[in-house]
Amino acid sequence: MAEKRDYYEVLGLNKNATEAEIKAAYRKMAKKYHPDLNPDDPEAEAKFKEVNEANDVLSDPEKKARYDQFGHAGVDPSYGAGAGGYGGYGGFGGFSADGGIDLGDIFDSIFGGGGARTRANPNAPRKGSDIAINLDISFMEACKGVSHDVEINRAETCDSCHGSGAKAGTSPKTCPDCHGSGYVRVTQRTMLGSMSSQRPCTRCGGKGSIIDEPCPSCGGNGRVQKRKKVTLNVPAGIDDGQILTVRGEGNAGANGGAKGDLNVRITVRKDPLFERRGFDIWVELPITYTQAALGAEVTVPTIDGNVTYRIPEGTQPGDVLRLRGKGVQRLQRDGRGDMMVRVIIEVPKRLNKQQRELLQKLDEQMNEKNFEKKESFADKLKKFGEEFKKNIGM
Ligand SMILES: [Zn+2]
Ligand SMILES: [Zn+2]
Repeated sequence: MAEKRDYYEVLGLNKNATEAEIKAAYRKMAKKYHPDLNPDDPEAEAKFKEVNEANDVLSDPEKKARYDQFGHAGVDPSYGAGAGGYGGYGGFGGFSADGGIDLGDIFDSIFGGGGARTRANPNAPRKGSDIAINLDISFMEACKGVSHDVEINRAETCDSCHGSGAKAGTSPKTCPDCHGSGYVRVTQRTMLGSMSSQRPCTRCGGKGSIIDEPCPSCGGNGRVQKRKKVTLNVPAGIDDGQILTVRGEGNAGANGGAKGDLNVRITVRKDPLFERRGFDIWVELPITYTQAALGAEVTVPTIDGNVTYRIPEGTQPGDVLRLRGKGVQRLQRDGRGDMMVRVIIEVPKRLNKQQRELLQKLDEQMNEKNFEKKESFADKLKKFGEEFKKNIGM
């Protein structure tokens, strides 16, 4: 059964054509292929019929709607699967003259043509697969970048046969059964008639080629498993859970295809001192309440070593000091994050008699004016008490 052309295509229109455009196109085409103007021209006659048929459907709103939804099957019950509504499956029209169903044709129409027939050429170059590994590094290595050697098992092109799989001095030959395609067409008799389908060629195992004398090094595979050392250059700024891709360090490809990649999943070990958030580094700095009250010079650890920092007078618990540009190198970019120092104020424990007396004396010297938050809190507390009394009617 000849493939029916799309009606819009017949009239040289696109699917959004308006009624007026359809009318105009039909007039033009009908005139062009009219038998009176093309005497004894069977091709023009066929076109003229086709144009009229297209116009019959597209000029009738109801038929046009069905055609738009279901294709030819929607307007011609004798076409394909009938008005079942499987728009593009018109290819079921393959229930044709000889009663044979060509599965290839069905796939072609389902997959918009070419589907089952254009199988991948088994001899085409194929890229090798990727390899995934894990790598543990320290916090500092992640901040500064590091070079690590790892050993991996991977498929390498066989040196003896250069990947052909055939013994030195011989070469693979094209499979005579499938002529190199790797697939053979099989026809079966069924109740519906003969059915033809494709299946992998058993003679060559779908490879399309046959090796008479396999290479002894790789057993005809063309690739061998080898243990290889790879140097990983981990860039400064990499973070926990990120994947470092090293191009071309994966498995060898087949038929001269490119090598796969090596994907390295990075795990950054926790640091006892530092915690990373993005490109900033956080550290907790314990100071005494005296240092907090009077201000003090303290030592702050950074990934560049210790630095001296002046804490201002009256520093409060939880205050955060920011050391600009002392954080982590931004990954593959200029600049660094910041170092964030959270102040922890420690209250002394286990005081002796003398320390206790001194502290008490100090406390007697102070009043609420020395404690901003305490003062405002006392204020709020007083107001709350008054409101509370009023509410419960005391
Ligand atoms: Zn080999
Ligand atoms: Zn074959």
